[in-house]
Amino acid sequence: MTPRNFREDFPILKREVHPSVPLVYLDSAATSQKPETVLAAMDEYYRRNNANIHRGVHVLAEEATRAYEDAREKIARFINAEKSREIIYTRNTTEAINLVAYSWGRAFLKKGDLVVLTEMEHHSNLVPWYILAEQTGIELAHVAVTGDGLLDPDDYASKLARFPKVVAFTHMSNVLGTINPVAEMAAAARKAGAITLVDGAQAVPHMPVDVQALGVDFYAFSGHKMCGPTGIGILYGREELLKAMPPFLGGGDMIKRVELGRFVANELPYKFEAGTPAIAEAIGLGAAVDYLSVIGMDVIHEHEKALIHYAIDRLEEVPGVKVFGPSADKKGGVAAFTFDGVHPHDVAEILDRRGIAVRAGHHCAMPLHQKFDIPATARASFYLYNEKAEIDLLIEGLYEVKKTFHS
Ligand code: PLP
Repeated sequence: MTPRNFREDFPILKREVHPSVPLVYLDSAATSQKPETVLAAMDEYYRRNNANIHRGVHVLAEEATRAYEDAREKIARFINAEKSREIIYTRNTTEAINLVAYSWGRAFLKKGDLVVLTEMEHHSNLVPWYILAEQTGIELAHVAVTGDGLLDPDDYASKLARFPKVVAFTHMSNVLGTINPVAEMAAAARKAGAITLVDGAQAVPHMPVDVQALGVDFYAFSGHKMCGPTGIGILYGREELLKAMPPFLGGGDMIKRVELGRFVANELPYKFEAGTPAIAEAIGLGAAVDYLSVIGMDVIHEHEKALIHYAIDRLEEVPGVKVFGPSADKKGGVAAFTFDGVHPHDVAEILDRRGIAVRAGHHCAMPLHQKFDIPATARASFYLYNEKAEIDLLIEGLYEVKKTFHS
């Protein structure tokens, strides 16, 4: 299959922006576009099966429940979870991480316990722990990022030597593109007696992920970055840990029984799914998993590797451009860069006039930008539907930026 075939699956990629400029979408790290099959699955649900789940005995309720639970099975297979009850539906990665920090954190951490994070985390994997620290007095440490955008292995070892209770880190940085050695880091954390939580928001959409082979305890990701809809995310957790945790939110569906003044929590995974969930979105995510599985995550990963190698080579040709992060062989399809003397927002605006969508800002990773002593970067990010010709258009746009600001 060529990238051209993938593009045809995405109706939005046929549109033009600003009168008659074709869209060049290089912002998939923020959110991905959706293929026809995902749109159709959600449309079909609302047109034919719409009903609340788990509660009715009528045909529509049974169909909706089956579709919602089938999606869970597909997602479990997609990341090789041992059991589908280890798959908890959340709203997004952010909520999945908050669930662990709130529920596991409050039950099992106490004042003085250490949680190890890293300097390259998205705010989603920092702030929930900072809130917990304010409320419980846990201590925090951050593994240093090296100048070339990798986690410093010596610093990691020195943090583990302090016997943390939790190690929480990203599988792939949304700014540097760095792909961290998750299996190795999780094994070392386990040896030190810590549980691991991995933020997989930028990994699951782009490469094969096997949570059992990685040996992680919790793994979080978002549907909207992997061709699925917004409003649905996943927390994978090892059954033993999930079972021991108290519920996160209380209400309908998460209970087995309620009497005045007391409740008995439901079984997994329902214990963590209070209230009417995002049913259409879960079904849409199931369709996204089908779509990605048919293509193959290794095929997608190889395609993006080729794109990032090409993009880095071409970006480095442009005088004044500095790309952050490690060499292309150590990163996924994300290129964050600065342009000498030009604010990233101006870069993004000039590119936008040419129909090229990139993101400018701190990308919810302010501490990482502070580390590199820059307020912001422009970021181009790629997915299965991008092609080299679009990177050529990006480079042409950057030469226009140069002409505008440097002449
Ligand atoms: N973690 C990483 C590495 C991300 O890139 C993002 C989103 O950009 C998130 C977490 C948060 O994802 P969401 O906003 O879907 O919760």
